[in-house]
Amino acid sequence: MSTVTKVWLDETENECTMCGACEATCPEVFEVPEKMIVKNGADFSLTQQIVEAAEGCPVGTIGIEYDNSGKRDNPA
Ligand code: SF4
Repeated sequence: MSTVTKVWLDETENECTMCGACEATCPEVFEVPEKMIVKNGADFSLTQQIVEAAEGCPVGTIGIEYDNSGKRDNPA
């Protein structure tokens, strides 16, 4: 199974709407004080929750990199 090596706010196409859905799904990793931020020292081994949060983001602004690929690996 692939390892999550980076999670970030990717506003290349859309802006975070600050809806809070990602934090509701995976509060260990995501925080939405204004726009989403990834918590310092977040546990990226929570792969399933991170993917669920990214898939649940209404505007597709959560980027996930696997295995240090150097690019966004998840679909929007
Ligand atoms: S789910 Fe997406 S739009 Fe909503 S706060 Fe998180 S990153 Fe922003």
